[in-house]
Amino acid sequence: MGFLEQVYRDAVLEHARSPRNRGALDPYTVRQEGINPSCGDELVLYVRLDDGLVADARFDGHGCAISQASASMMTQAIKGLSVDEAEALIVHFKAMIHGKGVDPSLGDLQVLEGISKLHARVKCATLAWVALDAALDAAAAGTAEAPQVDVDAVDAPTPG
Ligand code: ZN
Repeated sequence: MGFLEQVYRDAVLEHARSPRNRGALDPYTVRQEGINPSCGDELVLYVRLDDGLVADARFDGHGCAISQASASMMTQAIKGLSVDEAEALIVHFKAMIHGKGVDPSLGDLQVLEGISKLHARVKCATLAWVALDAALDAAAAGTAEAPQVDVDAVDAPTPG
């Protein structure tokens, strides 16, 4: 096993074992459910926005190690970002996971780049980010209880 692969595995297993920001958030601006039927991952994401910033984010649900680690790392990464910065991070994360390159703004999330080569697991990694994208859209529309999002329906690979 190569060094980077080991770093990736360690990060995923560590976050899956000890997820950050796990549990419900109250009060929240938006509550967003997301599912990845191909793996059975289910996620509930809570986001609290305050004055255009992500003031807090937590998640609940169950699923494979990659889905849990990705959600854990995402909630850490987005706290304190502006909504615009969080949306940019979603774009960069999806690009990385779809093998389109790594933007430096991804920071610690870069350890997940290896998932781009594990095609069956890509949706496990993007589930939390697809849910965040939907949550921010719902918040912008003033919806607190967002309709469930299915990663199969929205995470089509970027063309090109
Ligand atoms: Zn999964």
